[in-house]
Amino acid sequence: MPNTIEEEHAAHVAAALFGLRGDVRRLDGEVDLNFLVTSADERVVLKLHRPGTDLAELELQDQVLLRLACAGLRVATPVPVPTAAGELTTLVPWTDGSRPARALTWIEGTPWPVGTADPTLLHDLGARIGELDRALAGYHHPAEGREALPWRITAAAQVAPYAEEVDEELRDLVRAVFREHATSIAPALADLPEQVVHHDLNEHNIVLGADGSVAGFIDFGDVARVPRIAELAVAAAYAVQGVDHPEQALVDLAFGYHQANPLAAAELAVLLDLVRLRLATSIAMSAHQFARSPGNAYLLISQEGVREALVRLSATDPVLLHCRLRDALGFEANPLAREVRQHLESGRVRPVPLVAPVDRLAGAFDRPYGDAVPGTDEVRVDRGLAVIPGAEVRAPLDGEVTSVTDDGVVLRHRADTGPELGIALSGLEVDGLCAGDRVRAGDLLGRASTTEGVGYPAAQVRVQLCALPGVGGEELVSAVPEAELDLWRSVFPDPNLLLGDPQPVRRRPVRTDIDLLRRRRTNFSTALGLSYADPAHVVRGEGAHLVDRDGRRWLDLVNNVAHVGHAHPRVVAAAHAQAQVLNTNTRYLHASVVEYARRLVELFPDPLHVCFLVNSGSEANDLALRLARAHTGQRDVLVLDHAYHGNLTSQIDLSPYKFNRAGGLGQPHGTWVCELPDVYRGRLHELPVTEQVAGYAVSVAEQLDGIRAAGRAPAAFFVESLQSCGGQIVLPEGYLASTFALAGEAGAVTVADEIQVGLGRVGSHLWGFELGGVVPDIVTLGKPLGNGHPLAAVVTTPEIARSFANGMEWFNTFGGNPVSAEVGLAVLDVLRDERLQANASDRGRQLKEGLARASAGHPLIGDVRGEGLFLGIELSHEGRAPATAHAGLLKEAIKARGAMVSTDGPDENVIKIKPPMVLSEEDCAWFVDVFEDALGEVEKRVG
Ligand code: PMP
Repeated sequence: MPNTIEEEHAAHVAAALFGLRGDVRRLDGEVDLNFLVTSADERVVLKLHRPGTDLAELELQDQVLLRLACAGLRVATPVPVPTAAGELTTLVPWTDGSRPARALTWIEGTPWPVGTADPTLLHDLGARIGELDRALAGYHHPAEGREALPWRITAAAQVAPYAEEVDEELRDLVRAVFREHATSIAPALADLPEQVVHHDLNEHNIVLGADGSVAGFIDFGDVARVPRIAELAVAAAYAVQGVDHPEQALVDLAFGYHQANPLAAAELAVLLDLVRLRLATSIAMSAHQFARSPGNAYLLISQEGVREALVRLSATDPVLLHCRLRDALGFEANPLAREVRQHLESGRVRPVPLVAPVDRLAGAFDRPYGDAVPGTDEVRVDRGLAVIPGAEVRAPLDGEVTSVTDDGVVLRHRADTGPELGIALSGLEVDGLCAGDRVRAGDLLGRASTTEGVGYPAAQVRVQLCALPGVGGEELVSAVPEAELDLWRSVFPDPNLLLGDPQPVRRRPVRTDIDLLRRRRTNFSTALGLSYADPAHVVRGEGAHLVDRDGRRWLDLVNNVAHVGHAHPRVVAAAHAQAQVLNTNTRYLHASVVEYARRLVELFPDPLHVCFLVNSGSEANDLALRLARAHTGQRDVLVLDHAYHGNLTSQIDLSPYKFNRAGGLGQPHGTWVCELPDVYRGRLHELPVTEQVAGYAVSVAEQLDGIRAAGRAPAAFFVESLQSCGGQIVLPEGYLASTFALAGEAGAVTVADEIQVGLGRVGSHLWGFELGGVVPDIVTLGKPLGNGHPLAAVVTTPEIARSFANGMEWFNTFGGNPVSAEVGLAVLDVLRDERLQANASDRGRQLKEGLARASAGHPLIGDVRGEGLFLGIELSHEGRAPATAHAGLLKEAIKARGAMVSTDGPDENVIKIKPPMVLSEEDCAWFVDVFEDALGEVEKRVG
């Protein structure tokens, strides 16, 4: 097609001013002239703005785009292309006057698919918008106010008069939206966070990439400083169009945004109103334009989706939708519920019994709150009280009668200062009350039905509380979908708040895996991850097996915490028996904790016979650090590269595995990192082992020299007896002996971290440090001690313990409580009685040999190593380069076959095996086959 004169003129501008040569085509545009310039190697949009366009506004757009271009966003945004003279905007003469010209990079893709309800895509869009806004937070520009922009969400008052030009069908609705906004929402906007936002993320301005995900945002012509929530509201106004359930689309979009850029509760409270305002603005503006150019039918056609969305969103209950939004984002659904519960629980009011205790009956007719409705997926959000027919029913609190029905009454209780509470009662014959009557607590309301329960020994009075004025006010809302129980129990709280009956455990919502994942993303920090691409939903453990909610069994080869087997009956019984009698702290004389201390320290060589009981491995290492510092009077600590010693601040500082990896702040002052003696992949791996040991010991000597050169002395040398997170590393023979000697000579306290490997796991010895032929000054213990119960310990010498007793008392509230002590004793008993250390030795050998055999001829398996039931399989490419992706695939392929392993190591290329110690011979034989099969699949898939 030949170019138009306009296109030829534009081509001339592009070439002369911007140095852009290529095919030029006119694009759509509301007020500006836009041309796509396509050359051999790039595509650029040439924009010729309306004559008289405020140049400051164009500069605002360019500055925003330049900022976004440097923000590292996952989506693309247009980048301004300067003229040959280095200007971002330049004036060009045009037929209608002088037009400001700009050039922007073109973003390839397709527009947002209107009508999509795909939750993943909506989350994705929400998250990308959230990231965009984060990148613009804190940005300022003199033109950011955009006072003349009628589309500005804060310009509603300017647009409201156009509602009168809207056709009859929607005029009242549009008027109402502007009116409600002006009276109840607009004043609240001033208190919300404000910033510069894109402000027009309609379907044309969202670009999807070839893989169907959100890939770009374009057209920043409406960029303005407004309440931040307007960004999401505008995008939602378009994203909900043509969708069957616009409310759900809004929730999905907001969920995605909140993940990337957390919203405040006050912003959520205005979201629906602002979505409706944007839709009403669009309708009013187009009516106004149509009135001025009636020939332009396009103005009306493009309005269909907008009109329909406004009608549908206006038909939804705004209060409930607000609750749904809150619930989805992790806030409690009903913002008033907490206050209502506190009103009743704190004793501020003292409810009178609804029915006298003598008139209450037990049995099946007494129905709990949350009971499932048979044959449906619904649960009841009221409580059914079984009572003697004809029993008197009294007002539990002062209140006003809001309605009376055939078989019940609804009261509204409102204390002077307290929240409002609806109390709906049914199943009674009401005694002469009318709406508007005031009752006092204890007044007779009626009598339990004498007819309804004919044939039954009991009548049932149903009670429902409502903590959200305006919902369920007139009568009982008896059942709700179980999947929405979080929402509804916040609206209709448990009536036991009023009744105070002892009740069995409340029903909890039965959650789908998707719901669990969502809740984890809102009510937990996403810093806490999940294992496996398809996370396992396990509900039971038995010995070395885990069982998921569908009854599928897995051999658990990861969990060294369930040391003597998941749910070992002797351990469970010990916890149960002690919990039934007493659980308190260690400041009393109690036989269990002393017995445990004795039994624990007799497992150690002399002179390690003083113990401290704590709750976690991290706490144990933190205490070990304090002991070492108290004993030496020094602060500096040596650790091995890739070590992990725990999640406390003090331990992150000792863990290169954390401080040197994603999110870490680097090596802290006072921490000295010694080279890891990794005989498979370490720097010296080509040397004979004895030379490697000598070489790696030099690294310890060098770090000690460094401390000395700084004018200080070391407090401690922390070593995992076998390194776990660092890649299942067995320290070579002679390493611990030589390095502990060096550290000891320099005055350091040696600390063996046995949190992963202790208590018989290595098979040949009870403790990992014994493999190295050393006796550390301090040993820290954790994971296996309590078989899943939080029990950890520090064992040290009397001399070091003496240095620590310096006047400052040491106390740990939970550490060593009687229940923990009994659990710890049961673990030691089972370990002994079931010969589990010997089992670790035998099964470890069987597994290691079997896995080595299965790996022969598979170059991907670089190394099979370990001691007892602490094994590692390292996956490598040529030159021992880490095969990280392959290790991940192998882990998943093993899981698909019914066994769980994990990956670890600095490069995540080591398969970790550290199962409960009760693994059987058959389990091991079966797993070797599984491993071989899974390895075959991985090799076939990726070569
Ligand atoms: N030390 C080592 C070697 C560990 O592997 C861990 C936990 N993975 C810890 C300490 C910290 O133990 P916890 O998670 O019980 O605090």
